[in-house]
Amino acid sequence: MTQTTETLTPIIGLEIHVELDTRTKMFCRCPNHFGDEPNTHTCPVCIGMPGALPVMNAQAVEFSMRAGLALNCSIPGFTKWDRKSYYYPDLPKNYQISQYDLPLSINGMIEIPLSGGATKKIRIRRAHLEEDAGKNVHDFPAHTGVDLNRAGVPLLEIVSEPDLRTVEEVMSYARSMQRLVRWLGVSQANMQMGHMRFEPNISIWVGDPEKPLDLSAGWCTPIFEIKNLNSFRALEKTTEWVIGYHRAQIAQRGTGWSDAQVGKQNWGYRDDLEACEFQRGKEEAHDYRYFPDPDLVPVEVDDAWRARVAATIGELPIARKARYIAGYKLTDKEADALTQDAPTGDLLDAAVAAGAEPKRCANLLLGRGSAIANERGCAIAEIGLTIVQFVELAKMLAEGKVNATIAAGLFDKMIATGQMPMALAQTDGVLAVSDAGAISAWVDQAIAANPQAVADIAAGGKNRQKAFGFLTGQIMKLSKGAAAPAEVTRLLQEKLETKS
Ligand SMILES: [Zn+2]
Repeated sequence: MTQTTETLTPIIGLEIHVELDTRTKMFCRCPNHFGDEPNTHTCPVCIGMPGALPVMNAQAVEFSMRAGLALNCSIPGFTKWDRKSYYYPDLPKNYQISQYDLPLSINGMIEIPLSGGATKKIRIRRAHLEEDAGKNVHDFPAHTGVDLNRAGVPLLEIVSEPDLRTVEEVMSYARSMQRLVRWLGVSQANMQMGHMRFEPNISIWVGDPEKPLDLSAGWCTPIFEIKNLNSFRALEKTTEWVIGYHRAQIAQRGTGWSDAQVGKQNWGYRDDLEACEFQRGKEEAHDYRYFPDPDLVPVEVDDAWRARVAATIGELPIARKARYIAGYKLTDKEADALTQDAPTGDLLDAAVAAGAEPKRCANLLLGRGSAIANERGCAIAEIGLTIVQFVELAKMLAEGKVNATIAAGLFDKMIATGQMPMALAQTDGVLAVSDAGAISAWVDQAIAANPQAVADIAAGGKNRQKAFGFLTGQIMKLSKGAAAPAEVTRLLQEKLETKS
């Protein structure tokens, strides 16, 4: 077989490790807090002193259940803890407490957005809970330090089925997962703080182009597992690089580069080279000598617990995005930007519920809101805008008390001062005049001063619209831009009708 007659399809699965945002660690009461002095959040349990007994953190289990349910997983009634044995300086017990054959969540699915408004369903194999290891610190000239503040932090490991086919799908899946865990409030998912790490499994299926993808036919290249990628950029570069590498190997070696011949391998990503390098042949599961942890009781989940956690989930981002496009007539891009987190969309929903026009509210949030958020390097929901403030501003806009330009100015002032927009508009004297008496006088004045326009309107025909626009402009000018446009139109129509 030569390359040109075959289909080369990347087969990619992704493991994502998510640190859960609990107050304390997984099996002890040390604080789960990033960035403090090394080894200040430790105790006999998390530094692995003999005889110290772990106690399960129920909050971590509930967070994992919430994520599992949001990922459409089944939550089995019985799950247990296993010891995964390996020796590493940042793992003081010489084993990690994890879940082997009975994970907390299984058989789920997440829908991910793709370009052009398409979506794809990616199956989730399992999501299990474990404890994080500590961290080796290579900041010293002559030795390596070990910081155990992270040892024992709850870690949710979400494993997809190998359903990803392109770099775009991999990135969309990873970003969807980040959005979801933040949305659910189970993790801050901050990449800089190491809250999320990626481990892709990548190979290429070589098969008959005339037939649909079938992993039992044709052959696959060896699976490369790339460990511990801690940025989206590293994930993207790694995926691109490994696919390219496998393609080159197939061209050179053909079936000599098959999984059957070569076997699974662990590779690592080198940021400085933007390339991967071989680490070792992959250990099989039995190398870890898993066995049930005798110090921990199994976790039993009943329907009532499941239902209680399910009730905390609410509308998920992809559903909300679809609702914004269908119900609010927002573009895909607008809807996407407004569903990066739940609180930003909550602002929009509250304003619309109060009678404001969705598109105008979206424009405010994505215009001034986005600009301020970018300046501060935060989310729109974090710029300090309250729902009460935003609803009042949106209503003022909807009722024609301010135009879009004035509203944008008030938006900035609200953020700067924390005051309500109506009070700010009154102080600044920027409220539109909707007082019928005042507008009526301007309308009369404009009609009296422009008999030709009035005649054109009365005559109808092609000049009517233009003349009407001209008169409206004159009235706005007389009011120095303060007249509420809707009221101007209403009064002008009324007066012209009674004239004719
Ligand atoms: Zn501890």
